[in-house]
Amino acid sequence: MVFDYVIVGAGSAGCVLANRLSADPARSVCLIEAGPPDRSPLIHIPAGILGLIPNRHVNWAFKTEPQPGLNGRQGYQPRGRTLGGSSSINAMIYMRGHRGDYDEWAALGNPGWSYDEVLPLFRRSEDQQRGADHYHGVGGELTVSDLASPVAASHAFVESAIRHGVPANADFNGVRQEGAGLYQVTQRRGRRCSAAVAFLHPVLARPNLTVLTGHRATRLVLAGCRATGVQVRGQRGEVEITARREVVLSAGVFGSPQLLMLSGIGPRAELAGHGIPVAHELPGVGANLVDHVDLALVYRSSDPTLMGITLRTALRAIPGYYQWRRHGRGLLTTNFAEAGAFLCTRPGLARPDIQLHFVNGLVDDHARRLHYGYGISCHVAALRPGSRGTVRLRSADPFEAPRIDPNFLGVEADVETLLAGVKMAREIMCGAPLDRHRGAELYANGQSDEALVARIRQRADTIYHPVGTCRMGQDELAVVDPALRVRGLEGLSVVDASIMPTLVGGNTNAPTIMIAEKAAERLVA
Ligand SMILES: Cc1cc2nc3c(=O)[nH]c(=O)nc-3n(C[C@H](O)[C@H](O)[C@H](O)COP(=O)(O)OP(=O)(O)OC[C@H]3O[C@@H](n4cnc5c(N)ncnc54)[C@H](O)[C@@H]3O)c2cc1C
Repeated sequence: MVFDYVIVGAGSAGCVLANRLSADPARSVCLIEAGPPDRSPLIHIPAGILGLIPNRHVNWAFKTEPQPGLNGRQGYQPRGRTLGGSSSINAMIYMRGHRGDYDEWAALGNPGWSYDEVLPLFRRSEDQQRGADHYHGVGGELTVSDLASPVAASHAFVESAIRHGVPANADFNGVRQEGAGLYQVTQRRGRRCSAAVAFLHPVLARPNLTVLTGHRATRLVLAGCRATGVQVRGQRGEVEITARREVVLSAGVFGSPQLLMLSGIGPRAELAGHGIPVAHELPGVGANLVDHVDLALVYRSSDPTLMGITLRTALRAIPGYYQWRRHGRGLLTTNFAEAGAFLCTRPGLARPDIQLHFVNGLVDDHARRLHYGYGISCHVAALRPGSRGTVRLRSADPFEAPRIDPNFLGVEADVETLLAGVKMAREIMCGAPLDRHRGAELYANGQSDEALVARIRQRADTIYHPVGTCRMGQDELAVVDPALRVRGLEGLSVVDASIMPTLVGGNTNAPTIMIAEKAAERLVA
């Protein structure tokens, strides 16, 4: 159990690292994953996402602390717990964010992370089915394609947005982000192209790569200021896995700070509160949690081309399954969030501050509340919230879920942005092109600002992009330096969505894959 590199977490970042670090047969790599292999068909059939988000099948299914900004409600935080991590349960939207997001990272004291510097890394992993151009690459492991069979309602949403003055945008990852269009997805021939499918499965036969599923890292092993390995609990009990060169934490936005704190690396008071001896004081661990807060506008529909809990959908699913298997097309290839838009709520903004996800189903409360019949929804997310939260320990027991407090709507400006976005989204959803797809609105409680704010506080929650809990930077509260090495320690890096200093304006899978590409360059140098 001695390797050159030990990677904890086989998620979006961990799978990329396992691939890149084991490319040279002279380097030995161990990838440790708490969850099972990614064999569930729900992972690989895109529409299976509806069966993945609401339950614990391959999902940590965390709950947040009660949120004062959400009337004291507990939020829900699904996270993948299988090979591929959250990329095995996500909505497959391929989105990089705004170029200004990366220029902002660089300006915050992170040289090497500006948009022009990270663009080649996005292109490296990409296999863009439309072909290569300045923004897109071909021949990479991650297949990025247009949706195989988008439904009429998704096209109608785009049409309605355009009629409301939103510019058409055929490529949100190209020249400009603002506008409305169909999303591109990480799918290959109609199947989910998770980070595991893209980066891990093709290299599983490498003799220098060991993948341990069902093994949970419980603590880092430190010798003075150097990380030398990881303590791991599997079916056969506790083992220690030693890293000759580097331990890399890719356990995600909640897992990575939790593991650091369990190992005595974190804020002194927090560690002391749980009786954990301080190995290395690092006050920023678990701070700076930021996520996209989101309100879904939900409508009933009588459009039978949508997916619904109906006999007709069940009957369509049978030929749909064969169509999917044989041709990679049809209703089972939907990622549900087929179309969307990036909007500015005020003139003069340098970057859009709202993202819309149009959903061709009646998806309510993370698909935990089921409704008979058809529906459509529009998710409205505030892209750059000012609220910051924390991840803390519940106890020193590594098997207890961490205490997650996103502090949603903790600052008033976030409420105002979301309110402005909701009003814009309602206009689009009420537009003529959607007339034949749209029925009665659920949870409508009036259209005054007061009523909409009440609804936001009563119904908003995450759209699944928490980041920032092991923030990169060079100041006292930064956890990793711009090369992603844990500050003040040797042989230890964090490489996953937790290192983002600020939240990108868009979905976070492609940015996380890019982060791992960049870290791999340094680790093998
Ligand atoms: C429901 C949902 C929908 C989403 N939709 C989209 C989308 O459409 N597009 C998009 O771009 N982004 C989307 N995202 C976000 C995106 O998928 C994540 O930001 C990204 O996958 C995070 O990657 P990561 O490597 O940081 O963490 P993860 O991919 O979550 O990986 C962390 C891994 O570490 C493992 N782990 C944790 N703790 C331990 C431990 N102690 N020991 C061993 N293993 C451990 C976990 O099981 C997991 O496999 C979505 C996320 C969710 C949950």
